[in-house]
Amino acid sequence: MKFLTEEQKQEIEVVGTILPFKTNNYVVDKLINWANFEKDPFFILNFPQRDMLDKGSYNKVASLLNSDASRSTIQEEVKKIRLKLNPNPAGQESNVPEFNGKRLTGIQHKYREIMLFFPTQGQTCHAYCTFCFRWPQFALNDFKFAMKEADTMVAYLKANPQITDLLFTGGDPAIMKTRFFEAYFETILEADLPNLRNIRIGTKSLGYWPYRFTTDDDADDLLRLFEKVKKHGINIAMMAHFNHPGELKTDAVKLAVKRLIAAGVQIRSQSPLLQNINDKAEIWAENWKEQVKQGIIPYYMFIARNTGAQDYFAVTLNRAWQIYRNAYNQVSGICRTVKGPSMSCSPGKVQVVGVSEIRGEKVFVLNFLQGRDPGWVGKPFFAKYNPNAIWLDDLEPAFGENNFFYEQSFVELLA
Ligand SMILES: *Cc1c(COP(=O)(O)O)cnc(C)c1O
Ligand code: SF4
Repeated sequence: MKFLTEEQKQEIEVVGTILPFKTNNYVVDKLINWANFEKDPFFILNFPQRDMLDKGSYNKVASLLNSDASRSTIQEEVKKIRLKLNPNPAGQESNVPEFNGKRLTGIQHKYREIMLFFPTQGQTCHAYCTFCFRWPQFALNDFKFAMKEADTMVAYLKANPQITDLLFTGGDPAIMKTRFFEAYFETILEADLPNLRNIRIGTKSLGYWPYRFTTDDDADDLLRLFEKVKKHGINIAMMAHFNHPGELKTDAVKLAVKRLIAAGVQIRSQSPLLQNINDKAEIWAENWKEQVKQGIIPYYMFIARNTGAQDYFAVTLNRAWQIYRNAYNQVSGICRTVKGPSMSCSPGKVQVVGVSEIRGEKVFVLNFLQGRDPGWVGKPFFAKYNPNAIWLDDLEPAFGENNFFYEQSFVELLA
């Protein structure tokens, strides 16, 4: 067993001033392998690392902390650095709908059939991921999307009968006590919304705190509540974040998965592809195989978002495609429910289908898995090959064209 050196502790303190830091005894005792913690995926996932900040920012914060600068001086600098890290990527502001003349800040509605709901009590997590783009919600109150009224949510659903899916998100909504879930779900059931088919819960709790579904005080009540919703004909789907197969191997998580499935809950899995954590095809193949073995359905592989410590985690689009393909090749068809690698960009979820050559030009073949305009979905399009590209912004249309096919209508949609 190794321990953190004084120097490493100090680095965590410096970087932790910018990126919020939170871990817990499950992650520390059951997931991190302390014999080799510097390389451990869960250590890197929770503990801020020196290289997650650029040198200039790191030195600035370190010297402020060392010089006993006043709280307000430090806070001012922290705010500046955070703003440079693109705390609100992919134009999320433009997903916030207007309803009866008011902006509904606890809701995002980008894709026709699915609405995101940010319950106030669910805007934190059992532990914080160092790659996370949601950190402004924990750290910067200005960006906090939150809404108390279940009534407003239901009114919005009634006014938008095209919505079939309601996604509770955060933070991690599963951090909420069961009584809050109950308040939201009862309001939904009472409202009798014939179009609502699926309630999804975007959660990392299976990875960070499986006890939420086993031994926590109100774990049994939560499972009974899920069963009740299911009996009313609404499907409950956990959108579970598993970044690494190590998260699927503890007794606690296996029991939690079993209990959820026994309660009629579907579990689907998603994760970004992250350098230093899971950037190997073997890791993904093992992840998907282990998930399917436990009854979990592989769903999305994402490209790390352009926010926070992106440089530390970024994998080029070309490499992402190679890793995806090499992992996909190693598993049977039953694991190939997974989609990706996908970028959640402002116009939609863009999949890197692959690299190809068309009439002598090397290109990326791309495809919308989700679009602000549903008509864009499933139409392949082409970008000039760029070996260094890590995000859609780095790409240009192939074949000498000026715009991608969707750009004109995208501008009109936002206007
Ligand atoms: C990913 C995402 C969804 C869900 O999309 P699915 O493909 O249906 O899983 C919904 N809203 C937003 C804003 C998203 O980014
Ligand atoms: S659990 Fe989810 S919301 Fe919370 S820090 Fe990790 S990725 Fe972000």
